[in-house]
Amino acid sequence: MHETDATTAIPSMESYYLPQELQGIVESCIVQKRPALAAPILDFASVINDAFHQPAVTGIDLAMLDLVHQGSIDLPVYYCVSAAPAVNAMVARFQSFYCIVISEGLYGHIYPIAAGLLSHEPLRTFLAGGKEPHDDNGSPGRTRRDAFAWLHAHGATAAGPEALQLCRYYVEVIIYFVVAHEIGHIVGGHLGSRSLDASLITEADALTGEAADGKRALEIDADMFASLATAMFIGRRGSSQLWSELDINPTTGMRLLFGAAYILFSVMDLFGPEDALARRQKGHPAPLIRMHILGLVVANTVAQLSRFNRESIWDQGVHAVRAVEIALYEMAGGIMEDPQALAYEEAANVIWEEHIRRWPEVVTTLDRSRRSSYPWAATLP
Ligand SMILES: [Zn+2]
Repeated sequence: MHETDATTAIPSMESYYLPQELQGIVESCIVQKRPALAAPILDFASVINDAFHQPAVTGIDLAMLDLVHQGSIDLPVYYCVSAAPAVNAMVARFQSFYCIVISEGLYGHIYPIAAGLLSHEPLRTFLAGGKEPHDDNGSPGRTRRDAFAWLHAHGATAAGPEALQLCRYYVEVIIYFVVAHEIGHIVGGHLGSRSLDASLITEADALTGEAADGKRALEIDADMFASLATAMFIGRRGSSQLWSELDINPTTGMRLLFGAAYILFSVMDLFGPEDALARRQKGHPAPLIRMHILGLVVANTVAQLSRFNRESIWDQGVHAVRAVEIALYEMAGGIMEDPQALAYEEAANVIWEEHIRRWPEVVTTLDRSRRSSYPWAATLP
């Protein structure tokens, strides 16, 4: 945990927003390196004064305070929101600063889907108190992909006030996770590492062969950093005024984290710019595989940092995935069926074993010095 330095004033939200004079450099870098994602960067005033951006910007700001303000990174870290409609985020290293770019499409697509899922009363009851929703084992009338598309179109209109309120908290957690993941790329030494000559990482890249293997290792590393950072964020947030109505205790916190991560991974997988079926070519593993790794990491590390045992944390992850899938089925008629879930679980074990086997070699090519200001990160593999 960080010690708050009372002599360090909390910076204003604007101080982390990419200054106007640097916006052209970032825009032209994206045009050059990822033309498909080119879009104007929004100015701070239009982001901060628009209710559409508000939950996301709160999540970004809290992640910047926790992980940049209280960390010690060699160059200033800025963020900005781009008008790109894609479900994407990226991080780049420039000569004198780092920049995290969040596409407004990322949360634009998450809002209706999260609102639709959280309209399912048993899912809300599960998140709040751990009571598992009933599974009637009916047969799906839509594919899982079509069910997500249905929620995307109708989820926001279906949502009542309770669902919308929880959805705002959820988007904060989800965006916190995304920003923590990008900071994980910075402090993990992934930008411009010798193993992968890149000063820019985008979350929606499609890669093949060795490049995909190399990127996957870094994505898993960034996910691990983000998982633990977000688990601690939810723990701290639970005692704060704003979230007190959610009555967050650590087990509630774990359910919220796992549920939020699963929704994020599913949306990124289904609404990214590439063909979701070409999973092998993706830098990120499939959602359930990412969940499996997140569950392993959070269960192992949070158990070291708290009095919770590994098994009970793992169970919260398994139940959260199940509860989201049941909500998807009951709200929109699609679900991941058991054989598919089992295939993912097997694949997750293979990817994890391979990651652990290759990681000691990969890590020698990375500058890990920036991670030393996060003592908790030392508990990660
Ligand atoms: Zn990444």
